[in-house]
Amino acid sequence: MADPLLFNPRAYDPAHFDPETRRLLRATVDWFEARGKRRLIEDYRSRAWLGDFLDFAAKEGLFATFLTPASAAEGEDQRWDTARIAALNEIFGFYGLDYWYAWQVTILGLGPVWQSDNEAARSRAARLLAEGEVFAFGLSEKAHGADIYSTDMLLEPDGDGGFRATGSKYYIGNGNAAGLVSVFGRRTDVEGPDGYVFFAADSRHPDYHLVKNVVDSSKYVSEFRLDGYPVGPDDVLHTGRAAFDAALNTVNVGKFNLCTASIGICEHAMYEAVTHAHNRILYGRPVTAFPHVRRELADAYVRLVGMKLFSDRAVDYFRSAGPDDRRYLLFNPMTKMKVTTEGEKVVDLMWDVVAAKGFEKDTYFAQAAVEIRGLPKLEGTVHVNLALILKFMRNHLLDPAGYEPVETRLDAADDAFLFRQGPARGLGSVRFHDWRPAYDAYASVPNVARFREQADALCDFVSRIAPDERQSRDLDFLLSVGQLFALVVHGQLILEQARLTGLDEDVLDELFSVLVRDFSANAVELHGKDSATDAQQDWAIAAVRRPVVDEARAARVWERVEALSGAYEMNA
Ligand SMILES: Cc1cc2nc3c(=O)[nH]c(=O)nc-3n(C[C@H](O)[C@H](O)[C@H](O)COP(=O)(O)OP(=O)(O)OC[C@H]3O[C@@H](n4cnc5c(N)ncnc54)[C@H](O)[C@@H]3O)c2cc1C
Repeated sequence: MADPLLFNPRAYDPAHFDPETRRLLRATVDWFEARGKRRLIEDYRSRAWLGDFLDFAAKEGLFATFLTPASAAEGEDQRWDTARIAALNEIFGFYGLDYWYAWQVTILGLGPVWQSDNEAARSRAARLLAEGEVFAFGLSEKAHGADIYSTDMLLEPDGDGGFRATGSKYYIGNGNAAGLVSVFGRRTDVEGPDGYVFFAADSRHPDYHLVKNVVDSSKYVSEFRLDGYPVGPDDVLHTGRAAFDAALNTVNVGKFNLCTASIGICEHAMYEAVTHAHNRILYGRPVTAFPHVRRELADAYVRLVGMKLFSDRAVDYFRSAGPDDRRYLLFNPMTKMKVTTEGEKVVDLMWDVVAAKGFEKDTYFAQAAVEIRGLPKLEGTVHVNLALILKFMRNHLLDPAGYEPVETRLDAADDAFLFRQGPARGLGSVRFHDWRPAYDAYASVPNVARFREQADALCDFVSRIAPDERQSRDLDFLLSVGQLFALVVHGQLILEQARLTGLDEDVLDELFSVLVRDFSANAVELHGKDSATDAQQDWAIAAVRRPVVDEARAARVWERVEALSGAYEMNA
């Protein structure tokens, strides 16, 4: 029997989606299974370009169906539907991050286009998608990293209403093949933010020079250079501050995909890890008889379940967002920094168990161990996203507002708001629904109750001994507060989703025993920070808790983990 909480290609039937979505998701799984594990791994090892996969996607109209919003749609199944996009991310992560990346940067490349009023560019993008082309997002530059204000992609007016663009971009996925590259730059004749421009370039134009792939991988993460590239009015997507907002709002849409990719990676790696450990006999007993191995695999399993519950619930807030409900601006960077770093922990825990096996070239695990590291670093680092979520902490913890409940959003709707998010500022004014009822609903689950004590303690911290003026410039200290806050939000959405899906309470309890330990560890970390005051140090030690241990419960959860042994092996 397949575990109902994990993706398993053998049992996968996404019947909760409309027939065409269901068909396409299943066809994608079938394409990978038919390709087979040996070939998939060989392509990964030999850094082969993804031509066959892109041919499959083009033939099925996969990207065109999933990535053309209703406003530009020609077929009835085309819409921008975050629920099914999330499902596809998971499948791509499960089979290989290189496939996911080609699709992900296509999403990013489309962001500035679908936010634009430029009809010519929009129809060009829709046509290219229908023809099976991929896209690229040219924001990063070699010298500037996260500092996108300092772009050196310069647009000189050509006197005819257009520009000549000159400059380089670095770390740009699909820059070798994209039919349309959305490029961020600034005008030479306008100072400050009013000079920003987002424009569409064609990677096959003679003034577009592909320099190289900067990474050693099937992912084509390019450096390219434009030399007097002609940018006509039809190519201009956004100008001025709107261009900057389009960059941030695109990243808002794009970074949501990292959590589900990370989940897919962990799921495939977990089938391999548990199967290996359970069948390996040392000293006459399976490796899984060791208590520490059980603990590590069970922790990995419940952490993974937590990643899934949080991400599924975040989809609902993302899809229900609007000008008066911008809660996704917290939940979205949480999927980015929290879920993807949980993914790293899950793989680390399993790697401790499978040890040498995790290096073997005929395993999926070997690539999972490498690729899982990338996700926390793309679309803004963990630091950048943690710094972002801190802006919401006070409002979220202490000043809830009334909202209508948000339902599960698996309906076949077009998420039009994502392309008209508006100005990216004003984060401090975003309000949230009260986090406490989600916890109250599970007050009888021992470790939820234990964790709730820690969440209440954090509220006490924020209202009584929050960082002062000097500390508010110490990002090292602030980020450790951010980790505590992230845990409370993580727990909240997990509980909301647990309620909506009727999650087994044993699993929930074990999951919260991990969160209690995480909160304690982070409190100790804060205690040791250079600038922590005496009051903050005392608070930190007082917030440490021991989870509620229950051997029978742990044994029941272990049975679920053990059952993953042999539950899935990819076609050879
Ligand atoms: C495989 C891969 C694919 C990529 N694909 C694309 C793509 O298709 N298109 C694209 O435009 N870019 C792409 N990128 C770039 C990626 O988004 C950047 O790597 C990322 O934004 C971080 O920039 P950086 O690595 O240069 O770090 P830097 O900006 O140099 O940061 C250095 C350190 O400073 C910290 N830091 C920087 N700013 C802040 C801040 N405000 N607050 C707190 N800490 C901060 C960072 O966390 C980091 O620890 C890709 C990168 C890789 C590795």
